[in-house]
Amino acid sequence: MGKLLALSEKHALRVDRLSVAFPHDNQLLLALDGTSFEVMRGEFVCVVGASGSGKSTLLNVLAGLDRPSAGRAHVHGRVAMIFQEANLLPWLTAAGNVELALELRGIKAPERRALAYELLARVHLVGFERRRPHELSGGMKQRVALARALAQDADVLLLDEPFAALDAISRDLLHEELERIWKESRLTVLFVTHNAREAVRLGDRVLVFTSSPGRVAHEVHVDLPRPRSLDSPDLAVIAGSITERLKHEITNGR
Ligand code: ADP
Ligand code: MG
Repeated sequence: MGKLLALSEKHALRVDRLSVAFPHDNQLLLALDGTSFEVMRGEFVCVVGASGSGKSTLLNVLAGLDRPSAGRAHVHGRVAMIFQEANLLPWLTAAGNVELALELRGIKAPERRALAYELLARVHLVGFERRRPHELSGGMKQRVALARALAQDADVLLLDEPFAALDAISRDLLHEELERIWKESRLTVLFVTHNAREAVRLGDRVLVFTSSPGRVAHEVHVDLPRPRSLDSPDLAVIAGSITERLKHEITNGR
């Protein structure tokens, strides 16, 4: 019993034969088809798959927003999620958005302001605390979203193509930022992307999904030293082989 418990404590999340079906044209559309995988505490795992392969559905189930049709998904601890759109409240400042998350956590007013400024400093937004979302660039908004996620004091961070809408330079910088925060805070990260290079840039492991319905088809351990460069030839080789697999999955699915 003690041994079993010790084993489970190493896991941050566990997905067990998870299937999710949605009603569609009087039928059921299978978004996820009996997929299983585990993520260890402190691990950075990327999920890469074509569009429609159930990646968002997977994160939604882990965050409790969608329900499994069969199987199970379990997260140990608190979850925070970051989406492609920062989804900041437009009438609040950057600091106000972070403070709201702190308030929901029960942090009392006198401490909230200082803590929000501290979190914004961690994502390099000193001087931008009082700006409203429309006064911030796309990259800055995602930094605020990251600070807000940190304010939730989560154990597991779920990211759904968070940098897909950013220019290449902002994305590069946010990769560095996220990697640094992951290392400092011992978070567990599950990062969804359709970009194989981004997955190899960030992940300890990359789970390659089948196309519609989604399931883990293949797993790649990335042993390249960190921090990695998106432009490095070693990274390109691994990403290239993942892209080949994705293409194979897409043509197989037809
Ligand atoms: P991905 O994020 O990999 O692009 P999604 O998880 O968004 O894929 O979608 C997987 C499949 O499930 C798609 O065919 C999509 O249309 C369908 N789907 C997702 N969410 C819903 C929903 N709430 N209702 C109906 N169908 C959905
Ligand atoms: Mg998606």
